[in-house]
Amino acid sequence: LSAVAIVTAALDRIAAVDATINAFTHTNRELSLAAAAEIDRKRSAGEPLGPLAGVPVAVKDVLCTRDMPTTCSSKMLKDFRPPYDAGVVEKLRAADAVIIGKSNMDEFAMGASTENSAFGITRNPWDTTRIPGGSSGGAAACVAAGMVPASLGTDTGGSIRQPAAMCGVTGMKPTYGRVSRYGLIAFASSLDQVGPLGWSVADIAPVMHAIAGHDHRDSTSLKHDVGSYTHALASKDLRGLKIGILRQTMSVEGIEDSVRKSVEEAAKVFVEAGAEIIEVDLPHSEYWVPTYYVIAPSEASSNLSRYDGAHYGHRAADIATDADLGPLVTTYCRSRAEGFGAEVKRRIMIGTYALSEGYADDYYNKALKVRRLIKSDYDAAFSQVDLLLGPVAPTPAFKLGDKVDDPLQMYLCDLFTTGANLAGIPALSMPSGFDASGLPLAIQLQAPALEEARLIFAGA
Ligand code: GLN
Repeated sequence: LSAVAIVTAALDRIAAVDATINAFTHTNRELSLAAAAEIDRKRSAGEPLGPLAGVPVAVKDVLCTRDMPTTCSSKMLKDFRPPYDAGVVEKLRAADAVIIGKSNMDEFAMGASTENSAFGITRNPWDTTRIPGGSSGGAAACVAAGMVPASLGTDTGGSIRQPAAMCGVTGMKPTYGRVSRYGLIAFASSLDQVGPLGWSVADIAPVMHAIAGHDHRDSTSLKHDVGSYTHALASKDLRGLKIGILRQTMSVEGIEDSVRKSVEEAAKVFVEAGAEIIEVDLPHSEYWVPTYYVIAPSEASSNLSRYDGAHYGHRAADIATDADLGPLVTTYCRSRAEGFGAEVKRRIMIGTYALSEGYADDYYNKALKVRRLIKSDYDAAFSQVDLLLGPVAPTPAFKLGDKVDDPLQMYLCDLFTTGANLAGIPALSMPSGFDASGLPLAIQLQAPALEEARLIFAGA
């Protein structure tokens, strides 16, 4: 099969189904076909090809691409055309993957349903009356709908794993620092991480291999060796592996029966494969969501201060100067009022409050201390077990519109995913069957820092 044939098939599938799904904010047929033709030319010239030669990959629209817009699904950046590629995009191109387009997301990656995009909602391919999860909803839906075999998402509090779970595909949040954040538009810098989504663990392993590794342009990038993720696929014997089940998460209020049962069934499968299941406690897990929702908005309020219509981003037109504020502040206020959507504004206000003098000790600084306790819980658990098994989200995909006006309900989607971000550890979401109404179910595996290969090994 030629790269042109593969890329044509992907583009045709997008043309056929994306009017309904809306997984993409941008595609460019000529550009993708030209990239594919170049790969075919290299192949016929006998030039060496990268490990992802001809594979069409979608990239979440929060990652900079030099030849396509990068909008963060926000009006604020609707005209932004980065002059450079993100580190991970460079690496995909170096592996000869074809960047097929930019995938839709919650604005600035804030959300759990992809209903916060300025460019329209994304629908779940399994049931188009339902959400695909978020914030990387487009990246999950385009894989689930068979438009591309793999995509890149980002995960600050669950945004790769939760949409992967809702769409019945596989997604991994790597260890913090494992994958470069250079050219990733920041949401919460101490939590953000780029990772792959694909149909199966076998599909994400080579993508993970292509994007992992040190990048001197990201000061938090790790120098550790990456090793081989595809090797981890080979062994099927789990004898000796100890897997912890989190006592608290399995009995938490709001978790649906189908989700709990699916995790219990997965535990049986692991036992049949030779693993041992042990109940463990992460005593501070009830503080994951409150801690995350102080730290993430705090960092966001700081990161997003640059979009003011003067330095970066959308600039309001015809600014009639407010005499009290002066022309510059009026520009800032109007541009931000017009450019940002409601959820982004909510986060900026929460973060600004939590960081403000007089409140920082009660909120932001306290959250940092709790984050330390959460990390210690994981250290203690991983001194007993090799992996942790649990749910990804409390429910399968819910109906469009169900939670969009209720931020607290939306934040509770992150009950099981934010811990890994706060602790910086890698975690995998993978399909584990369907509920009675045919909606995908999923399980989550979490591993100690830098043990992505262990996740791939056990997941496969
Ligand atoms: N749902 C979470 C939030 O809204 C996680 C988002 C993410 O991981 N980018 O903040």
